[in-house]
Amino acid sequence: MKVIIVGGVAGGASCAARLRRLDEKAEIIMVERGPYVSYANCGLPYHIGGVIEKESSLLVANEKTFREQFAVDCRTRCEAIAVSPEKKTVQLRNVATGEVTTESYDKLVLSPGAPSIRPPLPGIDLPGIFQVRTVPDARAIREWIEKGSLFLSGMNSYSGFQTVRPKPHAVVIGGGFIGLETAENLVHRGFDAVVLELGDQILAPIDQEMARIVEGYVERHGIRLALNDGVAGFKQAANDTLSVLTKSGKSHPADLVILALGVRPDTTLAKSAGLEIGQRGGIRVDEQMRTSNPDIFAVGDAVEVKDFVTGEWSLIALAGPANRQGRIAADVIAGRDSRFRGSQGTSVIGLFGATAAWTGASEKTLKRIGDKDYEKVYLYPNSHAGYYPGARPIAMKVIFRKSNGKLLGAQALGEDNVDKRISAFAMALQMGATIYDLEEAELCYAPQFGSAKDPVNFAGMVAADVLRGDMPLSHWDSAEKGFLLDVREPFELAVEDVPGAAHIPLGQLRARLGELPRDKEILVICRSGQRAYSATRLLLQNGFKARNLAGGMLSRFHTLILTN
Ligand SMILES: Cc1cc2nc3c(=O)[nH]c(=O)nc-3n(C[C@H](O)[C@H](O)[C@H](O)COP(=O)(O)OP(=O)(O)OC[C@H]3O[C@@H](n4cnc5c(N)ncnc54)[C@H](O)[C@@H]3O)c2cc1C
Repeated sequence: MKVIIVGGVAGGASCAARLRRLDEKAEIIMVERGPYVSYANCGLPYHIGGVIEKESSLLVANEKTFREQFAVDCRTRCEAIAVSPEKKTVQLRNVATGEVTTESYDKLVLSPGAPSIRPPLPGIDLPGIFQVRTVPDARAIREWIEKGSLFLSGMNSYSGFQTVRPKPHAVVIGGGFIGLETAENLVHRGFDAVVLELGDQILAPIDQEMARIVEGYVERHGIRLALNDGVAGFKQAANDTLSVLTKSGKSHPADLVILALGVRPDTTLAKSAGLEIGQRGGIRVDEQMRTSNPDIFAVGDAVEVKDFVTGEWSLIALAGPANRQGRIAADVIAGRDSRFRGSQGTSVIGLFGATAAWTGASEKTLKRIGDKDYEKVYLYPNSHAGYYPGARPIAMKVIFRKSNGKLLGAQALGEDNVDKRISAFAMALQMGATIYDLEEAELCYAPQFGSAKDPVNFAGMVAADVLRGDMPLSHWDSAEKGFLLDVREPFELAVEDVPGAAHIPLGQLRARLGELPRDKEILVICRSGQRAYSATRLLLQNGFKARNLAGGMLSRFHTLILTN
């Protein structure tokens, strides 16, 4: 059997290696247009920032590895330019010489990825404007920073009296994870970095109130955010620098511009082969990564996948799914019955020592599709036992089915061990777990790692309390409808008060029940919802109508949770 794989990075390289492990006899050709295969594009922002100093560290495997260890005919600088499904051939162009050859295949795997979006804006080809997708892209950015216009602009304002160079300016266009990671690294390299974002929040997959926490945090660490504003064009300015012009009419000076507007599936070959393209613009595949042509498979960023929670077709450009899909395509080609389960979009990003991570459906996605059968809880548990040094709060939002408790999604932000919590939620979600399962999950505990009730258990307990009716819940957006009761201590009110709320500290509540109305619903407030839970239970058992205001004061503005 002869298999040709187009694209030699995440999906393609995984497919080639797996196929060889399953079939020693297959003839495998893997072609890659660029100079490298199997490189770590996820590490590129950190190479730009100097965290990963050596470029060679990004090259996980090379042509030689594939040839010697896997007996794969691995060809770099070799582009697949056309597919003939009728003849079962692919035309390959040697990028260096331009020579075109034709290879036949029994099975073809496409893993061409998703190039960065590069809109045809005025001035987009000016020097100093880069994207972050490949090793050569990162090299060009590093060279520009080290030797380029930045150096000249610094020298232009140099004088005997002024020996300090002005801070160079970077404008990053796009507030997704590639844009933010690159912006952080540019800040570490001494840039004044502006992130320009057309939407009203950064990190589009998470809900806005959670994104607000990240926004406050990155701003405190030196990134300037310009939300609700898109790029309109670029102009050459004085001193070999640029101006980034925005839709709202603003102009941002820039020594360096990074385009991080998102990615678009590369469907060029798929279209030329007449393969079905889905409604989201990616290559349509079945659970076994087969395209509309049974001898052609497609994997990675170029394909549409089923959203694991909503069942919708979606585009999810992540390394984990690409690797797994490459492996599944290899399994199926080798005669195994592997299937892709859909993607939950499980993601993580580190920014200035903090972490944001999420899995599954966001509330805004559920609202967009008109799904009303959900409830959400906010909680702020410590990352590990509070008495052990270094514990930090984790802001968590957990979304679940109101009708049966099934976990739908989770988002978490914090400075310690956020990723392991979201990984636990992600695993639970894929196994179809309910919040009742989270209550019972047996997780690692010693004081430096977690709590006897881990944040994941805690989320399950809070959510289960809500669904069992032990803790009726309300949210701040409907708070004006009830009688507000604040059970915090007086010194906490001095920091932040809730206008119009009655105030009875929890410790005095039993003795002062006579001050509360029996004909109105009482909405109970504390700092994070925990004392309000006790107060709500106390009130309910004394015949009052009471609800806990989810997440307490911390969820009211969702801003100052990460304080460093
Ligand atoms: C800067 C950056 C940071 C990232 N960080 C993360 C992260 O932290 N976590 C995460 O999960 N994901 C991350 N990703 C996304 C992740 O890298 C991708 O989801 C993954 O690489 C997709 O794999 P793929 O095989 O579909 O495409 P790619 O890895 O992009 O590989 C496609 C390859 O195909 C080649 N190709 C295309 N067309 C042809 C052709 N006609 N002939 C020959 N070769 C061709 C391209 O040159 C390219 O090298 C990041 C991506 C970038 C760019």
